[in-house]
Order: sequence, then structure tokens, then C-alpha cells
Amino acid sequence: MKQRINVVLREQPVEQKIVVQGWIRTRRDTGGFSFLEVNDGSCLANLQIIAEKTLENYDSEIKHLTTGCSVIVTGIAKESPAKGQNVEMHAEKVEVVGWAEPETYPLQKKRHSFEFLREMSHLRPRTNALGGVARVRSRLSYAIHQFFNERGFAQVHTPIITTSDCEGAGEMFQVTTVGKDGSRPKSDAEEFFGKRAGLTVSGQLQAEVYALALGNVYTFGPTFRAENSNTSRHLSEFWMIEPEMAFCDLSCNMQVATEMLKYVLSDVLENCAEDMALFDKFIEKGLVAKLKSVIDKDFVHLTYTEAVDELLAADKKFEFPVEWGIDLQSEHERYLSEELYKCPLIVTDYPASIKPFYMRVNDDGKTVAAMDILVPGIGEIVGGSQREERYEVLEKRMIEAGIEPEEYEWYLDLRKYGSVPHAGYGLGFERLVQFVTGMANIREVIPFPRTPGSAPC
Ligand code: ATP
Ligand code: MN
Repeated sequence: MKQRINVVLREQPVEQKIVVQGWIRTRRDTGGFSFLEVNDGSCLANLQIIAEKTLENYDSEIKHLTTGCSVIVTGIAKESPAKGQNVEMHAEKVEVVGWAEPETYPLQKKRHSFEFLREMSHLRPRTNALGGVARVRSRLSYAIHQFFNERGFAQVHTPIITTSDCEGAGEMFQVTTVGKDGSRPKSDAEEFFGKRAGLTVSGQLQAEVYALALGNVYTFGPTFRAENSNTSRHLSEFWMIEPEMAFCDLSCNMQVATEMLKYVLSDVLENCAEDMALFDKFIEKGLVAKLKSVIDKDFVHLTYTEAVDELLAADKKFEFPVEWGIDLQSEHERYLSEELYKCPLIVTDYPASIKPFYMRVNDDGKTVAAMDILVPGIGEIVGGSQREERYEVLEKRMIEAGIEPEEYEWYLDLRKYGSVPHAGYGLGFERLVQFVTGMANIREVIPFPRTPGSAPC
């Protein structure tokens, strides 16, 4: 019976015939047999397989197996006398499916640096750390869908190609056509869509449309930003989760975001314990305890104005000087979450002048109902707000921001017909995976990273 190794290792060691398929991690020979460590990607652990000399291809093949070779093994799963594993397998047949030339196969047994592995995105998921990241990433995605579905949110697929530059969240990639002869449109009117189009920087505006019809919705899709920022927290292509809720204000928004973070952290600690233990040991010491404390503790809430006061009072020199009205830089965010409070915090009510036109203006006329969640090690992980639901105020904010209201008639219409208070946020999926795995660089938590100057595979 075909079995995945995670199931074999989890099950009670009863003697039964199984078939496993995977890749050799190591081979070790002793007098009468060889130990084969096989990994099939279902979990971090390898299955130890004992291949006796008496197997018909022992001398011709088994003795030549090296790291990276693929095999199908039939045999009996048994209780293991060895320490640290409860099951081992006694091979009856070892079929070599694909060889891996040891002189050139780059993933030898020693540990490789993440920079080195980045140069082979086609092989790096076969390492313990990157395989673990892939499993944790997948589980986090599942947990997010589960969280929203349990609460009656509908998933909305917002467009990837867009003709509205939402919020000017960053530089956009343009989408255009190239004829067989290399010709390109000579004017905006000649463009494929009759006007300029680009890759989406956020699905929020479209999500608002559906929130004002379905109540609670979320998007989970690819997002593109052509900003030339080569940092450990920015990608040119990343995935974003954007819930949008009707009849919801800023405090309801904060509550959903907090519950979501705690929910997915609990889920992954429970369901990816083995991979999480690896990250705790080799990537970030104390990671699991840190995540547990995020689950248990209340997040600190403070306003932007209070945050600025804290920064001004800090006994620390920042590269970017602090004064009321500046956009918080990553060094400020990290000081607050990492050094001062040592836990996630929610900063609200930012100056209107540094936030996009759609955020709801507060009664003071100076600030908007925005909220960012900052976490230790990363800084901003969630950015959200209550949206401006008042027609006149929104129109005025658009004009001030240099946006033609006619261009966004559909968006203004939502404030004309059955407008309601509504709110939402954007969670950068890779920033979440980074936070959960402890990976220092965002390039390690997406399978095929796209950054300025680099897009392999
Ligand atoms: P930052 O100031 O960190 O660049 P931002 O203010 O541009 O973030 P938003 O426009 O609010 O971010 O986007 C919502 C979320 O998307 C952010 O909280 C972050 O988690 C994530 N995010 C934004 N830009 C990137 C990027 N280039 N790569 C990966 N994730 C990103
Ligand atoms: Mn940004």
C-alpha cells in the first residue's frame, strides 16, 4: 500500500507492507546492509530504510545511491529499536527511478547558506529549511481560508490587471501589448483596454464593491509593486489577504485582524509542530515561545500621536528624525514593537496627509481612522483603515490628492447608493510567513522571489 512518510511515522508501528516514494538524503553502509534515509516531502523527518545485501540490485544499484536519487521502496514497516524514531522499514525491493550525479548535485549533506540556495530555486525546496517553509506557508494559507470561511466571509477574486491605480501604493508595472513586429501602442487610446493598464497593487477598491453587496468578503491574491526597494521585507510580486467588512468600524476591523493573527498562529503551531521546532532550533531561537506569547497576550493599542511621543522620548538616535506628521519608518516601527513593548502593537489614527484618500477622516479633521499592526522583527505586517463612507468628504479628499473624481465614479457611487460604514485591511502573506518561520529575508518564504534585478525560474 502506497504511504506518505508523515503517515508512516505517525502511525503505531504495526508490521505491515508499505510502498514509499521519495528522494535519498543519505546512504550509510555497514557489514551486511545499507541504511537509506528517504524523504518524500510530506514532513521534515526521513524514513530509515534497511536494505539487505541479499536484494537483487544491491551491488549493481543500491550501493551506488547518493543524495538526491529518487526511489520507490516496497517493504515492511516495523517498530524501530533505534533512538529518536519509532518506525523503520525493511526493504524487499528498491527501485531506482532517477539518478543524481554526485559530482554535480549541489545539495550535499552539509548546511548551505540561504544566499547560496537562492541561486537554485529549482532545488532548494528539497532542503530541510525550505521544505519546511513550503509546508508552513501552505498550512497558513489553508488556515486563513478556514478562518474567514468559519466567519461567513466570501472570497472575491479581484482583477490582476487593473486600470485604476489604487492609492498610489507604489510604482506599478504596466501591462501592454507587443505586436509580432515589435510594435507597441502609440497612445493610451490604442492600448489593448483603451487606456493604460497595470498589475494590481491592491484589490481593496474592488473588494469594497463586494463588501457593500455581500457584507463580509476577502481577497487572497498576487499583488505587484515596482518599487525599487531592495530590503529584506519587500518583494516585487507578493500575496496579499484583504478582508473588507460592511457595517464595521475601526475597532471591529482591529478585532478581526487580531483574531485572525492569533487563529493562524495557533493553527500552525498545532499542525506544523515538527517544522516549527526546526525553525526554533536553527532559524530563530525562542520562536515558538514568541508566537505563543503573541497568541496569549493582548496587543498594545496606541495612537500615532502617542507613538510619536514615545519615539521622541526614546533614548535612541534614529536615522530618520521623528516629528508629528512623518510616516513611521521601519526603524521606528521596530523600536516600538521590538524594544519598547516587545509584542505586537496596533497604531491607529495617522495624519491624513500621509495616508490615502479613501481612509475615513476623524472628527479632528487632521487624522484618519487607519490602523497598522507592527510586530517584532518585521515592523508593519497589516495595514488597514475604516473607509470614508461620506460622499462629499471622499470627493474632497480625492481632489486634494489630485485624483479626478470622474475616474472613480464607480467608487463614489458606492457612497451614493446605500453607503455604510465599512473597513478592511491588507495582510502581506509573505510578511506573515516570515514572522512565523523566523526567516530573516522575505526571499526565503516565497517559492520564486521577484525583486529588482532578479526573477529566476
Ligand atoms: P511598507 O511601508 O512596509 O512598504 P506599505 O505601507 O506599502 O508597507 P500597504 O500598502 O499598507 O503597505 O500594504 C499592505 C500590506 O502588504 C503591508 O502591511 C505589508 O504586509 C504588505 N506589503 C506591502 N508592500 C510589500 C512588498 N513590497 N512585499 C511584500 N509585502 C508587502
Ligand atoms: Mn510600501
